[in-house]
Amino acid sequence: MAHPEAAATPPASTDPLSDALAQLAEAASALDLSDGLHRLLATPRRELQVSVPLRRDDGSTAVLSGYRVQHNFTRGPAKGGLRYSPSVDLDEVRALAMWMTWKCALVDVPYGGAKGGVAVDPRDHSTSELERITRRYTSEILPIIGPDVDIPAPDIGTDETTMAWIMDTFSVAKGYTVPGVVTGKPISLGGSLGRALATSRGVAHIALMAMASRGIDPAHATAAVQGFGKVGRGTARFLADAGVRVRAVSDIDGAIYSHDGLDIARLSEHVDRTGSVVGFDASEQIDPAYLLALEVDVLVPAAVEGVLTEDNAHAVQATIVVEGANGPTTKAADAILQQRDVLVVPDILANAGGVVVSYFEWVQANQAYQWNEREVNDRLEEKMARAWHDVVAHAGAHGRTFRQAATMIAVERVVEAHRLRGLYP
Ligand code: NAD
Repeated sequence: MAHPEAAATPPASTDPLSDALAQLAEAASALDLSDGLHRLLATPRRELQVSVPLRRDDGSTAVLSGYRVQHNFTRGPAKGGLRYSPSVDLDEVRALAMWMTWKCALVDVPYGGAKGGVAVDPRDHSTSELERITRRYTSEILPIIGPDVDIPAPDIGTDETTMAWIMDTFSVAKGYTVPGVVTGKPISLGGSLGRALATSRGVAHIALMAMASRGIDPAHATAAVQGFGKVGRGTARFLADAGVRVRAVSDIDGAIYSHDGLDIARLSEHVDRTGSVVGFDASEQIDPAYLLALEVDVLVPAAVEGVLTEDNAHAVQATIVVEGANGPTTKAADAILQQRDVLVVPDILANAGGVVVSYFEWVQANQAYQWNEREVNDRLEEKMARAWHDVVAHAGAHGRTFRQAATMIAVERVVEAHRLRGLYP
């Protein structure tokens, strides 16, 4: 993959960076941006690749690769999650960092975009090894993070404990406690009430607005959710709470199905006990690939990127796809779904609830004052609803898909900030 600087004509492959660059190219063309401005937006501001040496519990040494990419700072400090996954590489992190810039602009929080990753499968490591990986990675990227610079948060394979280790490592290096360096912290360390479920709450809220826009009554609706982690599990729960029958869910170990709808509360207990959705008694096991093609109203991919492709998009039977994950739909699949009149609610809108409440957490840390949960959830719903209506209005007025509309609104806001600030020197 070429460096994004060479991005004016993105290559036609299906990796996330190519898709992210193609989406930007489309928005740049529709907004009539100059070639220079387009290149500026296609190029990350700062990238850091580090090696993360790990002393393993058995005394041996492993060396992992870590990344932090800061795509844009023009509207404020960079913001984005930290992912622990074996497939993480620099191009994936670049794509995710760019999407964070657009997401923050779309929901109008004063941040740019960033993303980090360590190429590691957390399931292969003990808790003490994960702590050493996190602390060493934090030390390596320490010069470029901070509450006014770049603020990490949880993503695939990381959680509030990871954030506590980052905050502690950063604070020890500074000599004082810096709660604002991460979001998604434990509540007792200054985390926000409502943060843990914020992404899922937002995804479900958007899914319900999408159903309303297509005249679908949640009480008679069905859904399938791919991924049962921080995003998928809560989304399934909120959809079920709204009366939707969640017929299928999956995780990395497999997929389960119940025609009448899964009992999400009981399933959650099963997952807490066993670590997987597989083996849940009131369900049958199905082929995970088949989950994407089930006859349901709403499909929520909430696991990894690139799962809806040109090979399976024709088979999708849902009339609404709500992207809980980042980048789950490839460019080719997007075109097929559009042709088939499937409403695709893009990631930068659908899963923005997490960054919205991360912003609230950062504000609370800066104020040293905790909001109550109702205040957090009300403000979250207000921000998500505003972004939804912005996208619907733009898509309707200009005849664009929701992804095109969302990307154009976001890019336009970032461009406006660039225009007002000017180009230094
Ligand atoms: P997580 O690690 O908590 O959960 C990931 C889930 O996906 C797990 O259930 C895992 O078993 C499953 N999974 C992994 N590979 C799979 C596969 N090939 N098929 C089916 N299931 C698979 O991660 P998360 O935080 O829930 O993140 C999920 C997605 O949502 C990612 O794309 C992430 O970038 C995005 N996202 C997360 C947040 C957040 O606040 N955590 C916010 C916005 C977007």
